[in-house]
Amino acid sequence: MDRENLLMPETFNIPRVCGKCGGVMVFKGLGEYRCEECGELAYDDYGKVRCYIEEHKGATAAEIEAAVGVSQKTIRRLLREGRLEVAEGSRAFLRCDLCDRPIRSGRYCPDCEVKMHRNLEAKQREQHKRDLQGFGLGQQEAEGQKRFTRH
Ligand SMILES: [Zn+2]
Ligand SMILES: [Zn+2]
Repeated sequence: MDRENLLMPETFNIPRVCGKCGGVMVFKGLGEYRCEECGELAYDDYGKVRCYIEEHKGATAAEIEAAVGVSQKTIRRLLREGRLEVAEGSRAFLRCDLCDRPIRSGRYCPDCEVKMHRNLEAKQREQHKRDLQGFGLGQQEAEGQKRFTRH
């Protein structure tokens, strides 16, 4: 079995070999890697995008793609997964799935996220009420079914 694929199902162009000395690149966290031989730093796609956003607040996906060579598709995926967040006040790359308002990360704007939860809660409340009201009946039905299947 390919153990490497098993461990790394989603690679973001992880640097493995030092471009300077050929040493092994060791993962340091947040997409950053350091050569264990010479200390040279390198970044995977996530690290490159994260660093670029930190230095260029308000950059668009197209600008990031041009600057660090990570595709806009990958950038959007990182944002969707919530691994990246667009700086406050920046031109957003993402839009709320429900109201199309620009958002910084995830799938919904804060308002729609709350609304969505309230909606779910209301549905759950109705379901709960139905369960309570129909409890006796549900019980009888269940017992009737049991008797039926036993025969
Ligand atoms: Zn090195
Ligand atoms: Zn929204």
